[in-house]
Amino acid sequence: MGYACEQVCPTEEPCEGACVYNHSDVKPIEIGRLQAHATEKVIRTKKKLFRTGKDTGKKVAVIGAGPAGVSAACELRMLGHAVDVFEAKAKPSGLCVYGVAPYKLTNDQALDEIGYLQDQFGFNVHYNKPVSGRADFDKLEKDNDAIFIGVGLGATSSLGIPGEDKKGVIGALEFVEYLREHHHETPIAKRVIVLGGGNTAMDAASEACRMGVESVTIAYRRGPEEMGAYSFEYDLAKKSGARCCSMFRPLKWSVIRKWKA
Ligand SMILES: Cc1cc2nc3c(=O)[nH]c(=O)nc-3n(C[C@H](O)[C@H](O)[C@H](O)COP(=O)(O)OP(=O)(O)OC[C@H]3O[C@@H](n4cnc5c(N)ncnc54)[C@H](O)[C@@H]3O)c2cc1C
Repeated sequence: MGYACEQVCPTEEPCEGACVYNHSDVKPIEIGRLQAHATEKVIRTKKKLFRTGKDTGKKVAVIGAGPAGVSAACELRMLGHAVDVFEAKAKPSGLCVYGVAPYKLTNDQALDEIGYLQDQFGFNVHYNKPVSGRADFDKLEKDNDAIFIGVGLGATSSLGIPGEDKKGVIGALEFVEYLREHHHETPIAKRVIVLGGGNTAMDAASEACRMGVESVTIAYRRGPEEMGAYSFEYDLAKKSGARCCSMFRPLKWSVIRKWKA
């Protein structure tokens, strides 16, 4: 999934940051740009690049049509196995469609790449088919030679404080998912507080800023150096037009209670 990867991966850090060229004072290979160049045209022109393997007569069920499940499906097809992917949602691509901030990757871009891969490799995807219990799993085991589980990380963690279920309090992932589906029709408050210091928090803050809210405040319990987010994601959130993007150290629950009131 080189195209989605190029659009969303922070290649400067994990890839170019780890490139052996760094040890020789040579500029690292710009893997992100290389992937974009290589994949954009083949997807647009539907160029045939891959060949599936000779039929082995074996069947594999893949649970989840996210990047992991789709990648597994492609590899399995290259080995000649028949593949059926079972996806809980109505669209493939996992968090690329439901989680990654839309300014990085649009739904069309994500779905075009999956469509291209499906054409190339010929795996089946069954939508709105969650594997949700022992009976479902037993049936898959019975009907297939192997099962690949690519269901992602699941639900976001909660704060565990009273009031989380109140109107106007929403998980960052759910906010981004709603935004990706409803675009400018997403309801948003005038003033937004984002609790947390990870990449998902930064995406939510950046997107809230882009929606023209009065102020976005990122409230994180520790200092910037301890934030889970990449520094460029944090910088981007700050540059996205938030009137106020401040750090609280430490964040007091009394302050949160005051905001909630
Ligand atoms: C808000 C957010 C922003 C992100 N931004 C970036 C980024 O900028 N750059 C980057 O590189 N990575 C980013 N990531 C991480 C990236 O999205 C994940 O690493 C990637 O999507 C993981 O792929 P996956 O296939 O393992 O899981 P997922 O993408 O979660 O896909 C899992 C799939 O399995 C399906 N599924 C789950 N349970 C079942 C079931 N029981 N039956 C059938 N189907 C099921 C789900 O519906 C989903 O389609 C971000 C993640 C989040 C949450």
